[in-house]
Amino acid sequence: MNTIAIGIGTNQGDRILSVSTVLKKMLHHGLRIIQVSGLYESKAVGYQSDNLFLNAVVKVETQLEPLEVLEILMAIEADMGRIRLQNGYSDRPMDLDILAVGSKIIQTEDLQVPHPRIHDRAFVLVPLLEVWPDWVHPQTGVSIESMAKQVQNQILQKIEPDDFI
Ligand code: ADP
Ligand code: MG
Repeated sequence: MNTIAIGIGTNQGDRILSVSTVLKKMLHHGLRIIQVSGLYESKAVGYQSDNLFLNAVVKVETQLEPLEVLEILMAIEADMGRIRLQNGYSDRPMDLDILAVGSKIIQTEDLQVPHPRIHDRAFVLVPLLEVWPDWVHPQTGVSIESMAKQVQNQILQKIEPDDFI
């Protein structure tokens, strides 16, 4: 059994509806949802965009292998209208990333776990801390708690239920 943290990001279309749709699609593909973080809003990183991102992290359990889960996530992204550009970042209706698979380290061309770009991103670390407070980065030995502390200065808005009813 694998326990997997999946990062959800969206900055196009009805973002809250997309998060709920993506959770349903994960269930249909046999991923057992253990916990879902709160929703966080922040500016795009790495490129210029007027569209704010909504991010969340979901913790799931599955008998599937990590590569099979990646294939499912990419199919869900495509299903939700994601078009991949040749290179660089761009607006996207849905981005799904495998952040962590327990304490496994995976280094293949198609899949790197833990996700290599989580270290400096509050929009990943803060919701990851919510769903998996005892996770420790298997390559650095640093706890998710201290990783999240190091990005406290980044602007990240927690979306309260009142904001989306
Ligand atoms: P980004 O999420 O960095 O904006 P993409 O979503 O376009 O980029 O993903 C590009 C590629 O990253 C995918 O084709 C996938 O094979 C690869 N990849 C490597 N490691 C991971 C991971 N942990 N989770 C998701 N995709 C990954
Ligand atoms: Mg991605």
